[in-house]
Amino acid sequence: MAGRAAIDRDASIRTILGVGDDFNYEVISKEDWIGRRLVADKFRDRRIFICGDSAHLWVPYAGFGMNAGIADAMNLTWLLAATVNGWGGAHLLDAYEAERLPITEQVSHFAMNHALSAIAHRRAVPEAVEHDGAEGEAARAALGAQVSLEIHHSDSARAERLVRQSLAEVRRLEGLFSLYQPHSAICTLNRTGALAAPDPDMVALLRAALAFSKLTGGAFDPTVQPLWQLHAAHFSSPSADPDGPPADRLAAALAKVGHDGVLVSADRIALVRPGAGLTLNGIAQGYATDRVADMLRGAGLSTTLVDMGEVRALGARPDGTPWQVGLADADQPGRLGATVAIVDRAVATTAGAGFRFDRAGRFTHLFDPRTGRSPARYHSVSVIAPTATEADALSTAFSLLPPESVGALVAARQNLQARLVVGQGETLVYGA
Ligand SMILES: Cc1cc2nc3c(=O)[nH]c(=O)nc-3n(C[C@H](O)[C@H](O)[C@H](O)COP(=O)(O)OP(=O)(O)OC[C@H]3O[C@@H](n4cnc5c(N)ncnc54)[C@H](O)[C@@H]3O)c2cc1C
Repeated sequence: MAGRAAIDRDASIRTILGVGDDFNYEVISKEDWIGRRLVADKFRDRRIFICGDSAHLWVPYAGFGMNAGIADAMNLTWLLAATVNGWGGAHLLDAYEAERLPITEQVSHFAMNHALSAIAHRRAVPEAVEHDGAEGEAARAALGAQVSLEIHHSDSARAERLVRQSLAEVRRLEGLFSLYQPHSAICTLNRTGALAAPDPDMVALLRAALAFSKLTGGAFDPTVQPLWQLHAAHFSSPSADPDGPPADRLAAALAKVGHDGVLVSADRIALVRPGAGLTLNGIAQGYATDRVADMLRGAGLSTTLVDMGEVRALGARPDGTPWQVGLADADQPGRLGATVAIVDRAVATTAGAGFRFDRAGRFTHLFDPRTGRSPARYHSVSVIAPTATEADALSTAFSLLPPESVGALVAARQNLQARLVVGQGETLVYGA
């Protein structure tokens, strides 16, 4: 009751209506309502039949609200009509309960589970996404990146269609890789430890992630999710120790981390370590950028800039000059630092300041999988690479590696540039 009393009803009503303080309204009647799942034991007692909310109740989500009652009524009315008109047979009315009770019982579970997961999903959105300033920027960046597409096409209707297709593809991929969607493939895998018949994109991205883990000596590691969960739980308490989670909890979380504990095949993905969990947040945005770029190239576009947090250029600008991409300034969110010129390549930037657990910024979203800590080596790291997947994964990995290791990795690969911002105006550049 204390929770309910604390609700500002006026503010809630204005938010739902989308109106401000200048709008006048009057509450004519109100009814308290409790979300619950109830299905009657029987839908008929001799000549009495029940339909709609008198027969079944649940939280009306997923398109299963009043229409379930209408379906009852549709079913019952023709049975009644047939009986009243004398062509229905002696037992036709038994069909009503036989048909409607089991199906509404089934729907009640589906609708209720859907409602509960939607509510949990809504609660997972941090309050800070509404805030101005750096805190809000960080929360929005952590929740999902902005998408922007620059398509050059003489046929504007076709260009619009391609944009719609691109957004649909991004949404499909989010349904696989998003940790904010409780029924995404990755959340299911983290919950159950295994995924049968995984989507080919899930397999492809995990294989790519594990290849980058090997390449970077384990610096990039999609299994650091238990470290994220540990820090998120620790810092959600107002009295959190500013020095981070206790050593024994950190050790327990680290025991679940390790890219060698992920088994991937075309028909099954499994997490070997008990309690292990994956995050693809260090690579999935790049992968989605590449998929959209591939789709647009397949549709015949040769000059396009796809910007989904990570940037991928198809070709050069329409006038033949390189695309100019501004790199985010880690110290001043919303501002741009250096600008790089790219043709047919991708750029990704990673900065610890992108998400901080604590005000001091000692604990960030960048976890060293070996220590569980967040080393503050660089202000930010940008990588220019042939694909956004590579740029995204390597910008994360390089953030955890010393400059000499970054230099060696860049020298061993083609067409790669790493930019390590070590201080105000000071950038170490490796590769071209
Ligand atoms: C908060 C909320 C939001 C919802 N949102 C949606 C939505 O977005 N989409 C959707 O499809 N569904 C939604 N629903 C569900 C939907 O409103 C109900 O499923 C639907 O109204 C049920 O219709 P009904 O005729 O079975 O029952 P009711 O609408 O409850 O009608 C029963 C009527 O019988 C009257 N009555 C009760 N006892 C007697 C009596 N003894 N004699 C005479 N009359 C009596 C009652 O006063 C009432 O008017 C929502 C429900 C709630 C509570």
